[in-house]
Amino acid sequence: KTVCVTGASGFIASWLVKLLLDRGYTVKASVRNLEDPKKTEHLLALDGAKERLSLFQADLLKPGSFDKVVEGCDGVFHTASPFFIHSANPQEELIDPAVKGTLNVLSSCSKVPLMKRLVLTSSVVALMYSGSPLTPEVVVDENWFSDQAFCKETKLWYPLSKTLAEEAAWKFVEEKGMDMVTINPAMVIGPLLQPTLNTSAAAIFRLINAPTYPNITLGCVHVKDVANAHILAFETPSASGRYCVAESVVHMSELVQMLRKLYPSFKLPDKCSDDTPIVKYQFSKEKARSLGVNYTPLEEGIKETIESLKEKRYF
Ligand code: NDP
Repeated sequence: KTVCVTGASGFIASWLVKLLLDRGYTVKASVRNLEDPKKTEHLLALDGAKERLSLFQADLLKPGSFDKVVEGCDGVFHTASPFFIHSANPQEELIDPAVKGTLNVLSSCSKVPLMKRLVLTSSVVALMYSGSPLTPEVVVDENWFSDQAFCKETKLWYPLSKTLAEEAAWKFVEEKGMDMVTINPAMVIGPLLQPTLNTSAAAIFRLINAPTYPNITLGCVHVKDVANAHILAFETPSASGRYCVAESVVHMSELVQMLRKLYPSFKLPDKCSDDTPIVKYQFSKEKARSLGVNYTPLEEGIKETIESLKEKRYF
C-alpha cells in the first residue's frame, strides 16, 4: 500500500513515517524545503527509507503543490500545519497556512479517485474552547467544537487556526463525498526524531531553569501513541469522525513535580506565574480506546522527552 504524509519533517509526522515504514507501507512524504538536511536526513535514515520512502517538496500555500505527492496513494495523512503560540500576524502566519493549506491538500486528494481515506491531524484545541467553563467534572469529548468567536475574543490564534482548518475540511469532504477521519491529540510529548525543537517539546524544555511555571493545565499524550492512532484510523474501515487522543490532564505544577522526581539535579521553578485559580478538566479516552489506541503513561513520556533532548545535546 502507498500512503502520503504531509509535513513529514515535523515531530509527529516523523514518527508517523517511521511507523508506516515499519509496517511495510510505501510512503510519499512532503517537506517544505528539500534542500535543508535538518528536515530530511533523519527521514532518509529510517529503516526501509531507501526502498520505500520518497520525498517531495510542497508548500501549503502553493496551489497544486500536493498533486504529485498524493497521486497514486491509498491514503493521505495531512499533518502539516504551523504550530506555534505567539504570532505577530496570526492571519498570515497561522490561519492562512492552516486553512488554505488544508483545502489545498484536500483539493489534490479529490483528484485521486482510488484514495480510500484521508486522516487529518487536528487537535484538542479544535474542540475544547467552546466557551463552556472547564471544571474538574467536565469531560471534553469528540462532540465538542471550539467556538471561533470565543477563540478570536481570547486571542487563541493557534486554536482558531486548527478549528477553522478542521471545519473547512469537514465541509469540503462532505461536499465531495470523501472519507475523512480526524485525530485530535492533546500536547504531544516523547522522543524527537527530528533534530529541531518543536513547540510541544519546547514547553517541557522551557520549564528547566525558568523562574516560574505557567498557570496552564494541559492534556498530554505520547508521540508514538498519536502516530499509531493515525495508522489505526486509516486501517480500521469502521473508524469515523473525530478521535480525541489524550492520556492525562495535568497542571504545569504537576509536570514540574514529575521532572523534579525524575531529575533531582535540574533547577526547576517552585512558583506559578500568577495566582488565578487553577483550571482542571478531563478528556474522554473512550473513542480512541475503541480504535485500539493504548496510552503510554505520562511519566514515561516525560522521561523519554528529556532523554531525547539530552541525546540531541540540548543540555
Ligand atoms: P512541527 O512543527 O514539528 O510540524 C509541523 C509541520 O508542518 C512541519 O513539517 C512544517 O514544515 C509543516 N509546515 C508548516 N507550515 C508549512 C507550510 N507553509 N508549507 C508546508 N509545510 C508546512 O509540529 P508537530 O509535529 O507537533 O505538529 C504536527 C501537526 O500536529 C500539526 O497539524 C499540529 O497542529 C498538530 N498537533 C500537534 C500537537 C503537539 O503537541 N505537538 C498537538 C495537537 C495537534 P517545516 O518543518 O518546514 O516548518
